[in-house]
Amino acid sequence: MAERIDGRLRATEVLAEVGAKAARFTKRAGRPPGLAIVLAGDDPASLSYIRSKERAAEGAGLYSETHRLPATIEEGALRRFVARLAENERLDGILVQLPLPGLLSADAVLAELPPDKDVDGFTISNQGRLLAGQPGLRPCTPLAVIDLLKWHQVPLDGAHVAVVGRSRTVGRPLALMLLQENASVTVLHSHSRDLGALVRAAEVVVAAAGQPRLVQAEMVRPGAVVIDVGISREDGKLIGDVDSGVSAVASALTPVPGGVGPMTVAMLMANTVEAAEWHC
Ligand code: NAD
Repeated sequence: MAERIDGRLRATEVLAEVGAKAARFTKRAGRPPGLAIVLAGDDPASLSYIRSKERAAEGAGLYSETHRLPATIEEGALRRFVARLAENERLDGILVQLPLPGLLSADAVLAELPPDKDVDGFTISNQGRLLAGQPGLRPCTPLAVIDLLKWHQVPLDGAHVAVVGRSRTVGRPLALMLLQENASVTVLHSHSRDLGALVRAAEVVVAAAGQPRLVQAEMVRPGAVVIDVGISREDGKLIGDVDSGVSAVASALTPVPGGVGPMTVAMLMANTVEAAEWHC
């Protein structure tokens, strides 16, 4: 039976460290690190994510403000709103909750964010820095995956890692960050042929496709470590991309919920405090 990699437990540890850093920052700067969350529309999943972000910010001693805007907002108005927030010196990080409704372009809106306030690490500038191996704010979910692997003492140097999913927010940046850890990375996606054989070759599997139960036991090498990023909703329950049968084959596995999700939120707080330290 696979060992459970407990993301909630690790998130509690990370948030305690972040809280201590935030307290030191507040003493030095005379203000707490500040985070603004912008939500356009009322997507239920986004609403639940922003609530956990608000709670984590409060728990770690950060200042946070949430701006809820109508789904019908025009792109120009949303861009101006984000640009105005970016000028506020009390705010170290600004997070625009994605996906944006309708035809609003995330790239156009994110272009208003200065890279040093882009605590989600999604701007073209921060993505370019990641590609070039330069310092910058990194996306929170890939940070969460790498942290959980290191916390579980999984050696990444020279390890073969299969990343299932190549999105700009999860799979692709994660692949680049794993390369920086000297892993050999196979990136798989919806056009990949023979997914099973390619996943089975890896010592570490990260499933980030958003396809419930995509990774089945027979696709996993015995003893592999499996990180489940996927979140889908079925009958009101959250389920991941990894089938429960995988726990009989893998040596360690993250649960859904309670794995990568809480760690993603913790990494957002860590990024906000890091950004605050640059600003002071
Ligand atoms: P996305 O839809 O943007 O990308 C999905 C990727 O998976 C694509 O690259 C696609 O090619 C690939 N894919 C889809 N079906 C596939 C298949 N059958 N075989 C192989 N590859 C396939 O999604 P995303 O934003 O990257 O998110 C992926 C999942 O992770 C979603 O379930 C999302 O909810 C979840 N997520 C979780 C967290 C968290 O904090 N736990 C954060 C972000 C995203």
